[in-house]
Amino acid sequence: MGPSILSVCYIVASVTFILGLKMLSNPSTARRGNLIAAAGMIIAILGTIFLYEDDGKRLGNYPWIFSAIFIGSIIGVLVAKKVKMTAMPELVSFFNGMGGACAALISIVEFDYLYRENRAVSNSFSDVVASGHYLAIIAGTIIGSVSFIGSMIAWGKLSGKFKDYSFKGQHLFNNLILILILVSAVYAYFSNTQFVNIPFFITVALALLYGVFFVLPIGGADMPVVISLLNSFTGVAAACGGFLYNNKAMLTGGILVGAAGTLLTILMCRAMNRSLVNVLIGSFGGSNKASGGHDTEGSIKEISLSDAAMLMAYSKKVMIVPGYGLAVAQAQHTCHELEKALDEKGVEVKYAIHPVAGRMPGHMNVLLAEADVSYEKLLEMDDANEEFKTTDVVLILGANDVVNPAAKNDPSSPIYGMPILEVELAKNVIVNKRSMKPGYAGIENQLFYQPKTSMLFGDAKKVLQELLAELKNI
Ligand code: NDP
Repeated sequence: MGPSILSVCYIVASVTFILGLKMLSNPSTARRGNLIAAAGMIIAILGTIFLYEDDGKRLGNYPWIFSAIFIGSIIGVLVAKKVKMTAMPELVSFFNGMGGACAALISIVEFDYLYRENRAVSNSFSDVVASGHYLAIIAGTIIGSVSFIGSMIAWGKLSGKFKDYSFKGQHLFNNLILILILVSAVYAYFSNTQFVNIPFFITVALALLYGVFFVLPIGGADMPVVISLLNSFTGVAAACGGFLYNNKAMLTGGILVGAAGTLLTILMCRAMNRSLVNVLIGSFGGSNKASGGHDTEGSIKEISLSDAAMLMAYSKKVMIVPGYGLAVAQAQHTCHELEKALDEKGVEVKYAIHPVAGRMPGHMNVLLAEADVSYEKLLEMDDANEEFKTTDVVLILGANDVVNPAAKNDPSSPIYGMPILEVELAKNVIVNKRSMKPGYAGIENQLFYQPKTSMLFGDAKKVLQELLAELKNI
Protein backbone atom coordinates (compact mmCIF):
# COMPACT_ATOMS: atom_id res chain seq x y z
CA MET A 1 0.00 0.00 0.00
CA GLY A 2 2.77 2.41 1.07
CA PRO A 3 4.75 2.27 -2.20
CA SER A 4 1.68 2.87 -4.38
CA ILE A 5 0.65 5.91 -2.29
CA LEU A 6 4.26 7.07 -2.56
CA SER A 7 4.06 6.84 -6.36
CA VAL A 8 0.95 9.02 -6.25
CA CYS A 9 2.83 11.52 -4.04
CA TYR A 10 5.64 11.67 -6.61
CA ILE A 11 3.21 12.18 -9.48
CA VAL A 12 1.43 14.96 -7.56
CA ALA A 13 4.81 16.55 -6.78
CA SER A 14 5.90 16.34 -10.43
CA VAL A 15 2.68 18.00 -11.57
CA THR A 16 3.11 20.82 -9.02
CA PHE A 17 6.69 21.40 -10.23
CA ILE A 18 5.49 21.77 -13.81
CA LEU A 19 2.57 24.00 -12.80
CA GLY A 20 4.80 26.08 -10.52
CA LEU A 21 7.37 26.60 -13.25
CA LYS A 22 4.69 27.66 -15.70
CA MET A 23 3.27 30.15 -13.18
CA LEU A 24 6.71 31.59 -12.49
CA SER A 25 6.77 33.00 -16.00
CA ASN A 26 4.26 35.73 -15.09
CA PRO A 27 4.76 38.21 -12.23
CA SER A 28 1.09 38.05 -11.23
CA THR A 29 1.18 34.27 -10.70
CA ALA A 30 4.85 33.80 -9.76
CA ARG A 31 4.42 33.90 -5.98
CA ARG A 32 1.56 31.37 -6.08
CA GLY A 33 3.53 29.15 -8.48
CA ASN A 34 6.46 29.11 -6.09
CA LEU A 35 4.19 28.11 -3.19
CA ILE A 36 2.49 25.37 -5.22
CA ALA A 37 5.84 23.84 -6.25
CA ALA A 38 7.08 24.10 -2.64
CA ALA A 39 3.94 22.30 -1.44
CA GLY A 40 4.65 19.54 -4.00
CA MET A 41 8.19 19.25 -2.69
CA ILE A 42 6.90 18.90 0.89
CA ILE A 43 4.54 16.09 -0.24
CA ALA A 44 7.45 14.32 -1.97
CA ILE A 45 9.74 14.68 1.07
CA LEU A 46 7.15 13.56 3.65
CA GLY A 47 6.04 10.73 1.36
CA THR A 48 9.62 9.48 1.08
CA ILE A 49 10.23 9.75 4.82
CA PHE A 50 7.08 7.90 5.88
CA LEU A 51 6.15 5.65 2.95
CA TYR A 52 9.40 4.55 1.31
CA GLU A 53 10.05 0.84 1.80
CA ASP A 54 13.06 -1.29 0.95
CA ASP A 55 12.52 -5.02 1.48
CA GLY A 56 9.57 -4.14 3.70
CA LYS A 57 11.72 -1.82 5.84
CA ARG A 58 10.86 1.86 6.38
CA LEU A 59 13.45 4.64 6.69
CA GLY A 60 13.58 5.15 10.46
CA ASN A 61 16.21 7.59 11.80
CA TYR A 62 13.39 10.12 12.29
CA PRO A 63 15.08 12.23 15.00
CA TRP A 64 18.09 12.76 12.73
CA ILE A 65 16.01 13.48 9.66
CA PHE A 66 13.67 15.94 11.37
CA SER A 67 16.47 17.67 13.28
CA ALA A 68 18.28 18.27 9.99
CA ILE A 69 15.09 19.51 8.31
CA PHE A 70 14.35 21.80 11.27
CA ILE A 71 17.85 23.31 11.40
CA GLY A 72 17.99 23.68 7.59
CA SER A 73 14.57 25.33 7.47
CA ILE A 74 15.44 27.83 10.23
CA ILE A 75 18.68 28.78 8.48
CA GLY A 76 16.90 29.03 5.10
CA VAL A 77 14.10 31.24 6.41
CA LEU A 78 16.47 33.56 8.31
CA VAL A 79 18.88 33.94 5.39
CA ALA A 80 16.07 34.53 2.86
CA LYS A 81 14.39 37.12 5.12
CA LYS A 82 17.63 38.95 5.84
CA VAL A 83 19.03 39.09 2.32
CA LYS A 84 18.95 42.42 0.52
CA MET A 85 17.49 42.48 -2.99
CA THR A 86 20.90 43.50 -4.33
CA ALA A 87 22.53 40.41 -2.79
CA MET A 88 19.97 38.02 -4.31
CA PRO A 89 22.28 36.60 -7.03
CA GLU A 90 24.79 35.60 -4.33
CA LEU A 91 22.07 33.83 -2.39
CA VAL A 92 20.79 32.04 -5.50
CA SER A 93 24.34 30.95 -6.23
CA PHE A 94 24.84 29.72 -2.66
CA PHE A 95 21.58 27.74 -2.67
CA ASN A 96 22.46 26.26 -6.04
CA GLY A 97 25.80 25.17 -4.61
CA MET A 98 23.96 23.39 -1.81
CA GLY A 99 21.77 21.64 -4.42
CA GLY A 100 24.88 20.54 -6.32
CA ALA A 101 26.47 19.26 -3.11
CA CYS A 102 23.32 17.25 -2.26
CA ALA A 103 23.17 15.73 -5.74
CA ALA A 104 26.86 14.79 -5.58
CA LEU A 105 26.48 13.34 -2.07
CA ILE A 106 23.54 11.18 -3.14
CA SER A 107 25.70 9.63 -5.86
CA ILE A 108 28.70 9.29 -3.53
CA VAL A 109 26.56 7.55 -0.89
CA GLU A 110 25.27 5.12 -3.52
CA PHE A 111 28.85 4.41 -4.63
CA ASP A 112 29.93 3.90 -1.04
CA TYR A 113 27.10 1.43 -0.50
CA LEU A 114 28.04 -0.58 -3.61
CA TYR A 115 31.70 -0.44 -2.66
CA ARG A 116 31.08 -1.81 0.84
CA GLU A 117 28.73 -4.50 -0.47
CA ASN A 118 31.17 -5.76 -3.09
CA ARG A 119 34.55 -5.00 -1.56
CA ALA A 120 35.29 -8.65 -0.81
CA VAL A 121 34.38 -9.83 -4.29
CA SER A 122 37.86 -8.85 -5.44
CA ASN A 123 36.86 -8.48 -9.04
CA SER A 124 36.41 -5.65 -11.50
CA PHE A 125 33.80 -3.13 -10.30
CA SER A 126 32.25 -3.47 -13.76
CA ASP A 127 31.39 -7.11 -12.98
CA VAL A 128 29.20 -6.18 -10.03
CA VAL A 129 27.68 -2.84 -11.10
CA ALA A 130 25.78 -2.38 -14.37
CA SER A 131 27.27 0.23 -16.69
CA GLY A 132 24.06 2.34 -16.70
CA HIS A 133 24.01 2.41 -12.92
CA TYR A 134 27.67 3.42 -12.76
CA LEU A 135 27.10 6.09 -15.39
CA ALA A 136 24.32 7.64 -13.27
CA ILE A 137 26.57 7.50 -10.17
CA ILE A 138 29.66 8.97 -11.77
CA ALA A 139 27.77 11.61 -13.81
CA GLY A 140 25.85 12.72 -10.69
CA THR A 141 29.10 12.85 -8.70
CA ILE A 142 31.12 14.79 -11.28
CA ILE A 143 28.40 17.23 -12.37
CA GLY A 144 27.18 17.78 -8.79
CA SER A 145 30.75 18.43 -7.55
CA VAL A 146 31.46 20.93 -10.35
CA SER A 147 28.14 22.64 -9.65
CA PHE A 148 28.80 22.79 -5.90
CA ILE A 149 32.29 24.24 -5.98
CA GLY A 150 31.60 26.43 -9.04
CA SER A 151 28.57 27.97 -7.34
CA MET A 152 30.60 28.60 -4.18
CA ILE A 153 33.25 30.41 -6.23
CA ALA A 154 30.51 32.39 -8.02
CA TRP A 155 29.03 33.28 -4.63
CA GLY A 156 32.46 34.40 -3.39
CA LYS A 157 33.02 36.53 -6.49
CA LEU A 158 29.62 38.20 -6.37
CA SER A 159 30.03 39.01 -2.70
CA GLY A 160 33.50 40.42 -3.37
CA LYS A 161 35.36 37.70 -1.44
CA PHE A 162 37.25 36.34 -4.48
CA LYS A 163 38.71 38.16 -7.43
CA ASP A 164 38.91 36.94 -11.04
CA TYR A 165 41.95 34.74 -11.46
CA SER A 166 43.41 33.35 -14.63
CA PHE A 167 46.82 32.39 -15.92
CA LYS A 168 48.33 31.76 -19.33
CA GLY A 169 47.23 28.42 -20.72
CA GLN A 170 44.33 28.17 -18.28
CA HIS A 171 41.90 26.79 -20.85
CA LEU A 172 44.37 24.11 -21.85
CA PHE A 173 44.84 23.30 -18.15
CA ASN A 174 41.06 23.07 -17.67
CA ASN A 175 40.69 20.77 -20.66
CA LEU A 176 43.48 18.60 -19.29
CA ILE A 177 41.68 18.23 -15.95
CA LEU A 178 38.50 17.36 -17.83
CA ILE A 179 40.31 14.58 -19.71
CA LEU A 180 41.85 13.32 -16.44
CA ILE A 181 38.37 13.24 -14.87
CA LEU A 182 37.05 11.07 -17.69
CA VAL A 183 40.10 8.78 -17.63
CA SER A 184 39.95 8.25 -13.87
CA ALA A 185 36.15 7.73 -13.99
CA VAL A 186 36.55 4.98 -16.62
CA TYR A 187 39.57 3.55 -14.80
CA ALA A 188 37.56 3.34 -11.57
CA TYR A 189 34.85 1.31 -13.28
CA PHE A 190 37.31 -1.35 -14.36
CA SER A 191 39.28 -1.34 -11.10
CA ASN A 192 39.43 -4.11 -8.58
CA THR A 193 36.44 -3.84 -6.23
CA GLN A 194 38.78 -3.64 -3.26
CA PHE A 195 40.53 -0.47 -4.47
CA VAL A 196 37.88 1.15 -6.62
CA ASN A 197 37.36 3.84 -3.98
CA ILE A 198 40.81 5.34 -4.72
CA PRO A 199 40.23 6.27 -8.41
CA PHE A 200 36.63 7.15 -7.56
CA PHE A 201 37.62 9.74 -4.96
CA ILE A 202 40.44 10.99 -7.20
CA THR A 203 37.69 11.63 -9.76
CA VAL A 204 35.75 13.59 -7.11
CA ALA A 205 38.85 15.65 -6.23
CA LEU A 206 39.54 16.37 -9.91
CA ALA A 207 35.91 17.41 -10.46
CA LEU A 208 36.18 19.87 -7.54
CA LEU A 209 39.45 21.21 -8.96
CA TYR A 210 37.82 21.61 -12.35
CA GLY A 211 34.89 23.52 -10.81
CA VAL A 212 37.29 25.99 -9.19
CA PHE A 213 39.30 26.67 -12.34
CA PHE A 214 36.20 26.66 -14.54
CA VAL A 215 34.59 29.59 -12.70
CA LEU A 216 37.58 31.56 -11.33
CA PRO A 217 38.62 33.23 -14.61
CA ILE A 218 35.09 34.18 -15.67
CA GLY A 219 34.41 37.90 -15.27
CA GLY A 220 32.04 39.15 -12.59
CA ALA A 221 29.55 40.58 -15.07
CA ASP A 222 29.14 37.13 -16.61
CA MET A 223 28.37 35.49 -13.28
CA PRO A 224 24.58 35.35 -13.83
CA VAL A 225 25.13 33.32 -16.99
CA VAL A 226 27.51 31.02 -15.13
CA ILE A 227 25.10 30.63 -12.21
CA SER A 228 22.31 29.76 -14.59
CA LEU A 229 24.57 27.20 -16.31
CA LEU A 230 25.62 25.70 -12.96
CA ASN A 231 21.95 25.61 -12.02
CA SER A 232 21.27 23.44 -15.05
CA PHE A 233 24.21 21.22 -13.98
CA THR A 234 22.61 20.79 -10.56
CA GLY A 235 19.37 19.77 -12.27
CA VAL A 236 21.15 17.12 -14.36
CA ALA A 237 23.02 15.82 -11.29
CA ALA A 238 19.72 15.59 -9.36
CA ALA A 239 18.12 13.78 -12.30
CA CYS A 240 20.98 11.24 -12.11
CA GLY A 241 19.99 10.72 -8.44
CA GLY A 242 16.41 10.19 -9.64
CA PHE A 243 17.66 7.41 -11.94
CA LEU A 244 19.69 5.82 -9.15
CA TYR A 245 16.79 5.58 -6.73
CA ASN A 246 14.04 5.27 -9.33
CA ASN A 247 12.57 8.40 -7.76
CA LYS A 248 10.18 10.04 -10.21
CA ALA A 249 9.83 13.35 -8.35
CA MET A 250 13.59 13.79 -8.27
CA LEU A 251 13.85 12.84 -11.91
CA THR A 252 11.15 15.31 -13.00
CA GLY A 253 12.49 18.06 -10.72
CA GLY A 254 16.04 17.50 -11.98
CA ILE A 255 15.02 17.49 -15.64
CA LEU A 256 12.94 20.67 -15.18
CA VAL A 257 15.80 22.48 -13.42
CA GLY A 258 18.27 21.24 -16.03
CA ALA A 259 16.10 22.33 -18.94
CA ALA A 260 15.07 25.67 -17.39
CA GLY A 261 18.69 26.47 -16.49
CA THR A 262 19.87 25.65 -20.00
CA LEU A 263 17.15 27.80 -21.60
CA LEU A 264 17.87 30.72 -19.27
CA THR A 265 21.59 30.43 -20.07
CA ILE A 266 20.85 30.58 -23.80
CA LEU A 267 18.45 33.52 -23.39
CA MET A 268 20.96 35.50 -21.32
CA CYS A 269 23.74 34.87 -23.84
CA ARG A 270 21.39 36.09 -26.57
CA ALA A 271 20.55 39.20 -24.52
CA MET A 272 24.26 40.01 -24.44
CA ASN A 273 24.75 38.92 -28.05
CA ARG A 274 27.51 36.54 -27.01
CA SER A 275 28.05 32.84 -27.41
CA LEU A 276 28.30 30.62 -24.35
CA VAL A 277 31.90 29.77 -25.31
CA ASN A 278 32.72 33.47 -25.39
CA VAL A 279 31.21 33.90 -21.91
CA LEU A 280 33.13 30.92 -20.54
CA ILE A 281 36.52 31.75 -21.99
CA GLY A 282 36.33 35.55 -22.31
CA SER A 283 37.10 37.31 -19.05
CA PHE A 284 34.59 40.16 -19.03
CA GLY A 285 33.68 42.54 -16.24
CA GLY A 286 34.62 41.79 -12.64
CA SER A 287 37.12 44.32 -11.45
CA ASN A 288 36.39 48.02 -11.56
CA LYS A 289 39.18 48.95 -13.89
CA ALA A 290 38.53 50.77 -17.15
CA SER A 291 39.17 47.69 -19.25
CA GLY A 292 39.04 48.18 -23.00
CA GLY A 293 37.07 50.93 -24.63
CA HIS A 294 38.42 54.27 -25.80
CA ASP A 295 39.06 57.25 -23.60
CA THR A 296 36.03 59.42 -23.28
CA GLU A 297 35.97 62.74 -25.07
CA GLY A 298 34.10 65.96 -24.30
CA SER A 299 32.76 67.38 -21.09
CA ILE A 300 29.72 66.60 -19.07
CA LYS A 301 26.77 68.90 -18.52
CA GLU A 302 24.77 69.04 -15.29
CA ILE A 303 21.11 69.85 -14.90
CA SER A 304 19.46 71.35 -11.81
CA LEU A 305 16.57 69.63 -10.04
CA SER A 306 14.14 72.39 -11.01
CA ASP A 307 15.17 72.29 -14.68
CA ALA A 308 14.89 68.51 -14.74
CA ALA A 309 11.44 68.65 -13.15
CA MET A 310 10.35 71.36 -15.60
CA LEU A 311 11.66 69.42 -18.62
CA MET A 312 9.72 66.32 -17.59
CA ALA A 313 6.55 68.16 -16.58
CA TYR A 314 6.28 69.74 -20.04
CA SER A 315 7.02 66.53 -21.92
CA LYS A 316 4.54 64.32 -23.71
CA LYS A 317 6.39 61.12 -23.02
CA VAL A 318 8.98 60.24 -20.37
CA MET A 319 10.76 56.91 -20.32
CA ILE A 320 12.41 55.74 -17.10
CA VAL A 321 15.42 53.43 -17.36
CA PRO A 322 15.97 51.69 -14.03
CA GLY A 323 19.32 50.10 -13.21
CA TYR A 324 21.30 48.61 -10.39
CA GLY A 325 21.62 52.00 -8.62
CA LEU A 326 17.82 52.22 -8.21
CA ALA A 327 17.91 48.91 -6.33
CA VAL A 328 20.86 50.08 -4.21
CA ALA A 329 19.04 53.28 -3.27
CA GLN A 330 15.80 51.34 -2.66
CA ALA A 331 14.11 54.14 -4.54
CA GLN A 332 11.47 52.04 -6.34
CA HIS A 333 8.57 53.44 -4.28
CA THR A 334 9.66 57.06 -4.78
CA CYS A 335 10.11 56.28 -8.46
CA HIS A 336 6.51 55.08 -8.61
CA GLU A 337 5.43 58.30 -6.85
CA LEU A 338 7.22 60.33 -9.51
CA GLU A 339 5.55 58.29 -12.24
CA LYS A 340 2.13 59.03 -10.71
CA ALA A 341 2.91 62.74 -10.29
CA LEU A 342 3.91 62.99 -13.95
CA ASP A 343 0.87 60.99 -14.95
CA GLU A 344 -1.36 63.51 -13.15
CA LYS A 345 0.23 66.24 -15.25
CA GLY A 346 -0.75 64.37 -18.42
CA VAL A 347 2.70 63.00 -19.16
CA GLU A 348 2.85 59.45 -20.48
CA VAL A 349 5.40 57.50 -18.41
CA LYS A 350 6.84 54.09 -19.25
CA TYR A 351 9.79 52.01 -18.06
CA ALA A 352 12.45 50.56 -20.36
CA ILE A 353 13.69 47.26 -18.97
CA HIS A 354 17.00 45.78 -20.07
CA PRO A 355 17.20 42.00 -19.55
CA VAL A 356 20.45 42.19 -17.56
CA ALA A 357 19.86 45.49 -15.74
CA GLY A 358 20.60 45.11 -12.03
CA ARG A 359 22.29 42.04 -10.72
CA MET A 360 19.98 39.16 -11.61
CA PRO A 361 17.63 38.25 -14.43
CA GLY A 362 14.31 40.01 -13.90
CA HIS A 363 15.80 42.21 -11.13
CA MET A 364 14.09 45.38 -12.35
CA ASN A 365 10.74 43.64 -12.86
CA VAL A 366 10.80 42.34 -9.30
CA LEU A 367 11.94 45.70 -7.92
CA LEU A 368 9.21 47.67 -9.67
CA ALA A 369 6.55 45.05 -8.91
CA GLU A 370 7.45 45.52 -5.24
CA ALA A 371 6.44 49.18 -5.63
CA ASP A 372 3.19 48.22 -7.41
CA VAL A 373 4.26 49.67 -10.74
CA SER A 374 1.78 48.41 -13.34
CA TYR A 375 3.22 45.59 -15.42
CA GLU A 376 1.73 47.19 -18.55
CA LYS A 377 4.06 50.13 -18.15
CA LEU A 378 7.18 47.98 -18.46
CA LEU A 379 8.63 47.73 -21.96
CA GLU A 380 11.06 45.05 -22.99
CA MET A 381 14.27 46.19 -24.67
CA ASP A 382 13.18 45.89 -28.32
CA ASP A 383 9.87 47.68 -27.74
CA ALA A 384 11.59 50.36 -25.67
CA ASN A 385 14.14 50.98 -28.41
CA GLU A 386 11.26 51.59 -30.83
CA GLU A 387 9.59 54.03 -28.42
CA PHE A 388 12.71 56.07 -27.63
CA LYS A 389 12.32 57.74 -31.05
CA THR A 390 9.12 59.41 -29.87
CA THR A 391 10.27 60.05 -26.29
CA ASP A 392 10.93 63.57 -24.98
CA VAL A 393 12.91 62.70 -21.86
CA VAL A 394 14.69 59.54 -20.82
CA LEU A 395 15.35 59.49 -17.07
CA ILE A 396 18.12 57.01 -16.26
CA LEU A 397 18.08 55.96 -12.62
CA GLY A 398 21.25 54.19 -11.54
CA ALA A 399 21.81 52.39 -14.86
CA ASN A 400 25.10 52.52 -16.68
CA ASP A 401 26.33 49.48 -18.68
CA VAL A 402 22.89 48.78 -20.15
CA VAL A 403 22.85 52.22 -21.82
CA ASN A 404 26.52 52.31 -22.84
CA PRO A 405 26.79 53.06 -26.59
CA ALA A 406 30.25 51.44 -26.62
CA ALA A 407 28.37 48.15 -26.89
CA LYS A 408 27.28 49.28 -30.35
CA ASN A 409 30.12 51.35 -31.70
CA ASP A 410 33.38 50.40 -29.99
CA PRO A 411 34.69 46.98 -31.11
CA SER A 412 37.48 47.19 -28.52
CA SER A 413 35.00 47.47 -25.65
CA PRO A 414 34.48 44.36 -23.51
CA ILE A 415 30.73 44.84 -23.82
CA TYR A 416 30.81 45.22 -27.61
CA GLY A 417 27.91 43.31 -29.16
CA MET A 418 25.69 43.38 -26.08
CA PRO A 419 22.28 44.80 -27.09
CA ILE A 420 21.61 48.01 -25.16
CA LEU A 421 18.80 50.46 -24.55
CA GLU A 422 19.34 53.06 -27.26
CA VAL A 423 18.40 56.03 -25.11
CA GLU A 424 20.20 58.55 -27.30
CA LEU A 425 17.34 58.18 -29.82
CA ALA A 426 15.20 60.28 -27.45
CA LYS A 427 15.21 64.10 -27.46
CA ASN A 428 16.75 64.51 -23.99
CA VAL A 429 18.57 62.18 -21.63
CA ILE A 430 18.87 62.81 -17.89
CA VAL A 431 21.26 60.50 -16.05
CA ASN A 432 21.01 60.13 -12.29
CA LYS A 433 23.94 58.52 -10.47
CA ARG A 434 26.16 59.61 -7.61
CA SER A 435 29.47 60.17 -9.41
CA MET A 436 31.30 59.47 -12.66
CA LYS A 437 32.31 56.01 -11.45
CA PRO A 438 31.80 53.16 -13.92
CA GLY A 439 29.19 50.43 -13.57
CA TYR A 440 29.66 46.69 -13.22
CA ALA A 441 31.70 46.13 -16.39
CA GLY A 442 34.19 48.74 -15.11
CA ILE A 443 34.19 50.83 -18.28
CA GLU A 444 33.61 54.48 -19.13
CA ASN A 445 30.32 55.53 -20.68
CA GLN A 446 30.44 57.91 -23.64
CA LEU A 447 26.71 58.58 -23.24
CA PHE A 448 27.41 60.88 -20.30
CA TYR A 449 29.45 63.18 -22.57
CA GLN A 450 26.93 63.50 -25.39
CA PRO A 451 25.27 66.87 -26.04
CA LYS A 452 21.78 65.45 -25.39
CA THR A 453 22.77 64.14 -21.99
CA SER A 454 22.54 66.02 -18.69
CA MET A 455 23.82 64.59 -15.41
CA LEU A 456 21.75 64.80 -12.24
CA PHE A 457 24.12 63.69 -9.49
CA GLY A 458 23.01 62.25 -6.17
CA ASP A 459 21.54 59.21 -4.49
CA ALA A 460 18.55 58.03 -6.55
CA LYS A 461 16.10 58.12 -3.63
CA LYS A 462 17.08 61.62 -2.52
CA VAL A 463 17.06 62.96 -6.07
CA LEU A 464 13.65 61.43 -6.76
CA GLN A 465 12.21 62.89 -3.55
CA GLU A 466 13.52 66.32 -4.51
CA LEU A 467 12.24 65.97 -8.06
CA LEU A 468 8.81 65.12 -6.65
CA ALA A 469 8.84 68.22 -4.48
CA GLU A 470 9.83 70.35 -7.48
CA LEU A 471 7.09 68.80 -9.62
CA LYS A 472 4.47 69.72 -7.05
CA ASN A 473 5.46 73.37 -7.38
CA ILE A 474 5.01 73.43 -11.15
P1 NDP B 1 25.66 49.19 -13.65
O1 NDP B 1 26.30 48.33 -12.64
O2 NDP B 1 26.26 49.27 -15.00
O3 NDP B 1 25.59 50.68 -13.12
C1 NDP B 1 24.94 50.99 -11.94
C2 NDP B 1 25.19 52.46 -11.67
O4 NDP B 1 24.37 52.80 -10.57
C3 NDP B 1 26.61 52.75 -11.28
O5 NDP B 1 27.31 53.38 -12.33
C4 NDP B 1 26.49 53.65 -10.04
O6 NDP B 1 27.17 54.86 -10.27
C5 NDP B 1 25.00 53.88 -9.91
N1 NDP B 1 24.55 53.87 -8.52
C6 NDP B 1 24.93 53.04 -7.52
N2 NDP B 1 24.30 53.35 -6.39
C7 NDP B 1 23.48 54.39 -6.67
C8 NDP B 1 22.58 55.16 -5.90
N3 NDP B 1 22.38 54.93 -4.59
N4 NDP B 1 21.90 56.15 -6.51
C9 NDP B 1 22.09 56.41 -7.81
N5 NDP B 1 22.95 55.73 -8.60
C10 NDP B 1 23.64 54.73 -8.02
O7 NDP B 1 24.13 48.76 -13.68
P2 NDP B 1 23.19 48.39 -14.91
O8 NDP B 1 21.90 48.02 -14.27
O9 NDP B 1 23.19 49.45 -15.94
O10 NDP B 1 23.87 47.15 -15.59
C11 NDP B 1 23.96 45.91 -14.98
C12 NDP B 1 25.35 45.37 -15.10
O11 NDP B 1 25.49 44.30 -14.17
C13 NDP B 1 25.68 44.83 -16.47
O12 NDP B 1 27.05 44.97 -16.75
C14 NDP B 1 25.33 43.34 -16.32
O13 NDP B 1 25.99 42.53 -17.27
C15 NDP B 1 25.82 43.11 -14.90
N6 NDP B 1 25.19 42.04 -14.19
C16 NDP B 1 23.88 41.76 -14.45
C17 NDP B 1 23.25 40.76 -13.79
C18 NDP B 1 21.83 40.44 -14.13
O14 NDP B 1 21.48 39.28 -14.26
N7 NDP B 1 20.99 41.44 -14.27
C19 NDP B 1 23.94 40.03 -12.71
C20 NDP B 1 25.33 40.43 -12.47
C21 NDP B 1 25.90 41.40 -13.22
P3 NDP B 1 27.68 55.75 -9.02
O15 NDP B 1 28.56 54.86 -8.21
O16 NDP B 1 28.38 56.88 -9.65
O17 NDP B 1 26.45 56.17 -8.27
